[in-house]
Order: sequence, then C-alpha cells, then structure tokens
Amino acid sequence: DKKVVLITGCSSGIGLSLAVRLASDPDKTFKVYATMRNLAKKERLLESVKDLHRDTLDILQMDVTDWQSILDARDRVVEKRIDILVCNAGVGLVGPLEVQSLDSMRHILEVNLLGTIQTIQAFLPKMKAQNQGRILVTGSTGGLHGLPFNEVYCASKFAIEGACESLAILLQHFNIHVSLIECGPVHTDFLVNLQKAELGDTSLQQVDTQTLKLYEKYLQHCSSIFQNAAQDTEDVVKVFLDAIQSPSPAFRYFTSSAGPPVTKLKVTEPDGSYISAMSKVIFSGEEQQFCS
Ligand code: NAD
Repeated sequence: DKKVVLITGCSSGIGLSLAVRLASDPDKTFKVYATMRNLAKKERLLESVKDLHRDTLDILQMDVTDWQSILDARDRVVEKRIDILVCNAGVGLVGPLEVQSLDSMRHILEVNLLGTIQTIQAFLPKMKAQNQGRILVTGSTGGLHGLPFNEVYCASKFAIEGACESLAILLQHFNIHVSLIECGPVHTDFLVNLQKAELGDTSLQQVDTQTLKLYEKYLQHCSSIFQNAAQDTEDVVKVFLDAIQSPSPAFRYFTSSAGPPVTKLKVTEPDGSYISAMSKVIFSGEEQQFCS
C-alpha cells in the first residue's frame, strides 16, 4: 500500500518541491495530496511532475484558514486516511512593528499558527484511531530565535514550536511522530509572498528616522543573506525525506548547520548575549557563523 501524504501550501516553494519529489518517487511509494488555497495556481506543480504523477498525485483546494475547506479536502482523500501530514503553508510579515495593522497581524497568526493547528485538528482523530502517523511541520529558525522587524512572524513560528512540542509528548502514546523541519533562508516565493513595508511606503512616514535607518540595514542584510546563504528547496526536501524515511524520526531537524549554534547561545547564555550578537550581525554587517 502506498503511504498517503497530504501537504499544505503546494502552489510554490517548499510545498511544491516536496509534492513533486514524493509524487515522482521511482518506487511509487507515496500517494500525494498536494493542497493549495488557490487551484488556479496548480499549473506550476503540474508542469513540474510532467507525466510521472498519474496514480501518485492529486491536487486539492485547501485554505488553512478556512475550517470547512480543510474538512472538504479531508473528505476527498480516497484512502480515507493520511499517513503523513505536512503542515507547510505560511506567510511572512516584515516591517517596523508600529506600522503593522491589526488585520495583517491577524492574518499571519491565522495562516501560520491557527492554520497549522486547525489542519492538525482535522486529521488527528483518525491518526489516533489508526495508532500510527507522522506530522511534519515546516518550522523556521525564526521560530527559535527572534529577528528584528519580524516580531509577529517570529511570534507565530515560536507559537508553532510550543504547539508541536506539546503535541509530540502526548502523541508518543499513539505512535504518531511529530517533526519540525527547521529552515533558515530558502529560495522560494516566500519573499514575494510576504507582506513587507517598503522604504518609500507612506505607512513608514510616521516611523522615526533611527528605526528607518535600522530597517534599511536589516533589508540589506536580508537580501545579502538570501543571495549568499539561502538553500534550494531540493536541499530542504532531502531533510523532509530523512524524517519521512526514518523508522523513529527526530523531533527537530535543521536543514542547515547555521541554525543550531544560535539557538544554543540563546539557551546557554541567558544574559542576552544572543541579542547583542544578532544585533551586530544584522546592523553592523559583522559576519558570524550564524545568520538567518
Ligand atoms: P512560499 O511563499 O513559496 O510558499 C508558501 C505557500 O503557502 C504558498 O504556496 C502559499 O500560497 C501558501 N499559503 C499561504 N496562505 C495559505 C492559506 N491560507 N492556505 C493554504 N496555503 C497558503 O514560501 P516557502 O518558503 O515555500 O514557505 C513554506 C513554509 O516555509 C512557510 O511555513 C514558511 O514560513 C517556511 N519557511 C520559509 C523560509 C524561507 O526562507 N523561504 C524560511 C523558514 C521557514
């Protein structure tokens, strides 16, 4: 029997690459339900799988902020079970905190946090009843340490860490493995899709000049990191595969070795060394081994 996989956010980026890789598996190990909010965007996925997908791929509409849409997608799974659930959909929000509207902050939390939790809620009872399953969540190093001008995004990703850790403890008793795949910068549509305050925006007129100067530096840092250190989705997909193929998957996987030292520093030096180190990296352009 094929392993039934459902992935959220498959119209681009990591979700698309993972869906393509699993649906094109030479041994046809997987049946992939690639879900996306807007089915009009399915062409890119279809082009990427070409003819390989006849009995290994189905594309379903699913908006993770819409409970009914999650239930409708679940009902369309022919096998009536999911072996591997991949919660991947997410959006970014970048800019000085004081200009973020309540609506845009709500949206980020609704997609990244509640969207992930609601997706898990919809599939959890069946997984528990089967006494087996995998839940993989696309995490972010921004869910492990803070990043300036990303307060709400980081809050949403930190919150996912808490939700997943809590669930993982319980779900051990149901033979369900929860894994977070912690990504640093990855070449995807993330930067295009994120809500970002641009330097010339009228919304920034109310912001003090010191913040704007730092914001400009942050944006430069961010674009140089994405140019020089971002991973390709294929590298991230390999880590997902490790987790999927392991008989006893780890709780956390880091897609790049740049991740763990920062998190370690944060835990071992509670005086806040991490905060000043990160500030130097981002605002003084000091290169260090950790950048994300
Ligand atoms: P992406 O923008 O290419 O993909 C995100 C996908 O989520 C898109 O296809 C988008 O349409 C989808 N999405 C947004 N709102 C949705 C909704 N309401 N319902 C269903 N789908 C929705 O970017 P990506 O980098 O592939 O992002 C995937 C995940 O990786 C996200 O959770 C993101 O936070 C995380 N991540 C990305 C990076 C990076 O640098 N690219 C770094 C760390 C973590």
